Amino acid sequence: MKRICVVGAGFGGLALAIRCQAAGLVTTLVEAREEPGGCANTVTRDGFTFDTGPGTLIDRAGLDDLWALAGGSGAGRDMASDVALAPLAPFCRLHWSDGTSFDLSGDEAQLRGEVARIAPDDLAGYEDFSRYSVEALTETRLALLHAPTPDWTSKLLAAPALLRHQAWRSLYAKVASQVRSDKLREALSFRTLMQGGNPQTASAISAALYQQEKDGGAWWPMGGMRVLIRAMAALFTDMGGRLLLGEPVARIHTIGNRVAEVEGVSGWREHFDAVASGADLMHTYRHLLGHTQRGRQMTDRLARRAWSPGVFSVHFALEGSWPGIPHAMALFGPRYGGLLDDIFEHGVLPRDMLIHLHHPSVTDPSLAPPGKSVFSAVVPVANLGKLPIDWSQVGPLMEQRVLDEVGMRFIPDIHDRVLTRFHRTPRNAAEDLNGYRGSGWSLEPNRWQNFWARAQNRDSAIPNLYLVGAGAQPGAGVAGVVAGAKRTAALICADLLGPAL
Ligand SMILES: Cc1cc2nc3c(=O)[nH]c(=O)nc-3n(C[C@H](O)[C@H](O)[C@H](O)COP(=O)(O)OP(=O)(O)OC[C@H]3O[C@@H](n4cnc5c(N)ncnc54)[C@H](O)[C@@H]3O)c2cc1C
Repeated sequence: MKRICVVGAGFGGLALAIRCQAAGLVTTLVEAREEPGGCANTVTRDGFTFDTGPGTLIDRAGLDDLWALAGGSGAGRDMASDVALAPLAPFCRLHWSDGTSFDLSGDEAQLRGEVARIAPDDLAGYEDFSRYSVEALTETRLALLHAPTPDWTSKLLAAPALLRHQAWRSLYAKVASQVRSDKLREALSFRTLMQGGNPQTASAISAALYQQEKDGGAWWPMGGMRVLIRAMAALFTDMGGRLLLGEPVARIHTIGNRVAEVEGVSGWREHFDAVASGADLMHTYRHLLGHTQRGRQMTDRLARRAWSPGVFSVHFALEGSWPGIPHAMALFGPRYGGLLDDIFEHGVLPRDMLIHLHHPSVTDPSLAPPGKSVFSAVVPVANLGKLPIDWSQVGPLMEQRVLDEVGMRFIPDIHDRVLTRFHRTPRNAAEDLNGYRGSGWSLEPNRWQNFWARAQNRDSAIPNLYLVGAGAQPGAGVAGVVAGAKRTAALICADLLGPAL
């Protein structure tokens, strides 16, 4: 019986542990915190339930697949018996300060209607974009997401299609060549922010995200992300997997060029045939493998790479209900390109911002007492490497500004209605999750560090060390790390159990 240790029980680590256990590997999942979930963290406060991480899910099929693996003799289980996923309609409402709005949904006719309303001259360009995003999704699925191993043959086979689809261009440049309205350009490019990417530097084939969402929908787990995370953890342990919580890993020991043992801060130490890390990429190499030559080499390399922004988020409960404010919104400010430059390049904290506003209690009344509401406002900000400010000073001011902006747009007496509120800053990601530079999505998925250019799912120098999660291929976002777990599991199973028949 081969034994594997997965470090970190975020979405990526959980999905990988489930796959390894289902394949017949004796799997131990070790998590530093007392609760699994990583950045998908749920906080209960004053009778309200807040999610401080992901606010929507796309590609529920990736999650369904995990349940299908359980149950023995190929019987599978149904995710719906453990977690109720509510569909979101619209997926997201975009809003500009002049009052213009645009609903993203999976209904093509409705989408065309939205384009005709805000940018009638761009209908033909929108259709070009739509076709392009279908092709981009087909290519990324074939070549990147579902390719079992990132070998040179699959890269060479995919190269002509990537060239044909101008993958070297930025998503914003591609969209700008198709539509002229500034608002529509923003609407058709901002989604890369959900993966920590700058639309001005992320590859044009990131347009696949739009089609992926159209095909698979956007979803919310009733009861909050905690319900889904706990159900994944229960699925793993029901299958016989071992979950160690509150056990920060201190070191991954090697013998020669192979990992041999994992040691926890508590003194727990055990031998494994292979180790997969779902912890932050830099933390894995710098701290867990820092005593090895490979660890030091990768630390130097990673320090030179671009890291995605941090996240400032305000979580607040209000007296009253707002059925007209949908589950997910994006509130655009007066600037787009300049704001993105400030966040990704210049590392300054401007007055204006782009807010992802989540209002989960409109979908899920269990999150708040009757007649009250729960909101989260998520604002991408420069990471701590670019903007090393004292967030304990700036946080309260920024919290006020975010509430002012939401109030000005939708709820004029917002300050009188606040029942409880708190905020999270990039410092929390750094301290609570070992996130390098407080980044919310690991390496920035720009054209030079996306897909294949991200960390490989198997380390190239330590052949029984594997990677999963936001820093590894194909990238961040719940759908990305769950798809990445499938690739990593395929490599582990081929290495430890032999090629599948
Ligand atoms: C505010 C925010 C909003 C987001 N919104 C969305 C969204 O709406 N939709 C979407 O799809 N994606 C969203 N994302 C992105 C998505 O949530 C992440 O990309 C994904 O959850 C990352 O999962 P992960 O498993 O890679 O990492 P993490 O969730 O960071 O998990 C890593 C785990 O490793 C553990 N760990 C670290 N060090 C150690 C150690 N030494 N020993 C043991 N354990 C360790 C950590 O405690 C953590 O539990 C959002 C991200 C953020 C920050």
